[in-house]
Amino acid sequence: MLEKLGEAIRKATDKIANALFLDKDVVDSIVRDLQRALIEADVNVSLVKELSDKIKKSAMDERIKGVEKKEHLVKILHDELLRLLGEHKQLKLLEKQNRIMLVGLYASGKTTTIAKLGNWFAKRGKRVALIGLDVHRPAAKEQLMQLGKKNGLNVFTNIEEKDALKIWKEFEPKLKDYDLILVDTAGRHSLDKELVEELKELNKKIKPTETILVIGADIGQAARTQANEFKKATDISGVIITRMDSTAKGGGALTACAETKAPVYFIGTGEKVNDIEEFNPNSFLSRLLGMGDLQTLIEKVKSVTEEKSQKKIQKKLEEGKLTLEDVVEQVRSMNSMGGFDKIKSMIPGLSNINAKIPEGALENQEAKLARWEHIIKSMTQEEKENPELLEKQTSRMARIAKGSGVATSDVRSLLKQYKLLNEVIKSGGAGMDMSEGMSQKQMMKFAKKFGKKMRF
Ligand code: GDP
Ligand code: MG
Repeated sequence: MLEKLGEAIRKATDKIANALFLDKDVVDSIVRDLQRALIEADVNVSLVKELSDKIKKSAMDERIKGVEKKEHLVKILHDELLRLLGEHKQLKLLEKQNRIMLVGLYASGKTTTIAKLGNWFAKRGKRVALIGLDVHRPAAKEQLMQLGKKNGLNVFTNIEEKDALKIWKEFEPKLKDYDLILVDTAGRHSLDKELVEELKELNKKIKPTETILVIGADIGQAARTQANEFKKATDISGVIITRMDSTAKGGGALTACAETKAPVYFIGTGEKVNDIEEFNPNSFLSRLLGMGDLQTLIEKVKSVTEEKSQKKIQKKLEEGKLTLEDVVEQVRSMNSMGGFDKIKSMIPGLSNINAKIPEGALENQEAKLARWEHIIKSMTQEEKENPELLEKQTSRMARIAKGSGVATSDVRSLLKQYKLLNEVIKSGGAGMDMSEGMSQKQMMKFAKKFGKKMRF
């Protein structure tokens, strides 16, 4: 059931947990994956866009940093998905007699669901009766009788009678001892005038305590129109979505119902009588995510992040060396913090350091980082491990510049940044917090030492 969507959401949370820096690229790629999966599950595009925008906005919230930022992002992701799934409403039986009428189009799963609900409440000690009022499909009443027999449920219907109201009147006196009467009605290909009239008539006579719309999950987000139309025609108190097991579009059906504010009471998850579950958005989402609740999720993000960044710092410090890729990452993370000017203003005593930043340079930063990445891709493994080789042999530099379509000055600037950052590491990398670029202490050291040379 929605396996692909679940997998995509789990991947997204893993990406958040594993990212060394939650920069724009990481967030964009997470959002892209999610969008693809949600749209594949037939969730409405504008809902998907809304969710994406919220996630992006929250990821760029500069007030939150480090692991907390990751927790925050996972929480937003969780809450937004939960919001998409709508409110939780349980189908509760009343003390007096309950009359639940199931309505819906042809083959939406009404009759099957009647048997499932009958069985569900009978197991919970209720005296249940099923009444077959589908006078349109010749085999409909037999189907209900068979299902009743198979599951030990009492069924009332009249095979010969073509008038649904007459069947109701015939059996009404016999129904008074039951706690729950489940009414099976006829469907149509679409909600036409005839069906509306029939539902209104039945409504008047039966006075259902609940009228439940049955929708097949395979119609996906078209459930929105269907739910709205039925709501207009009659008093719908809730929805049951069937065939959640056999389509990838269930996400669309669920979110569309949430949009129309029609609470989903149950979902059908198979053809057998026990294949029915109460729908609880919270536990449904937990299952999609493949873990307990939000707290478990946050704990996971925390521990993965801590473990990962610790391991990485450890390794870096032992080697006393950052790779070229690390350099790009570092500069990108400083950039996402707002560049050197911003960093300066955040650290007391640093604002008087005279690091000249050429005007407009920050806007070019992303383009420059992208060029750096191209450069790294054009390098051989040997060169990546020993960038010093490039300075020794300028032919290498020329080859790389040509191969990556950049100027040799770009290659030089990457090398310069590389040396600069490695000097910082050597001058005492301890206490460096890789999960958010550098620590303040580190940054201060860095700025003091290299402030004048900094060129962003
Ligand atoms: P009705 O015309 O609305 O009464 O629909 P039915 O109850 O006759 O069901 C139509 C078809 O959907 C039947 O083949 C059922 O077996 C099937 N069906 C109903 N609910 C589910 C479900 O939750 N999962 C699956 N896989 N099939 C279902
Ligand atoms: Mg039926």
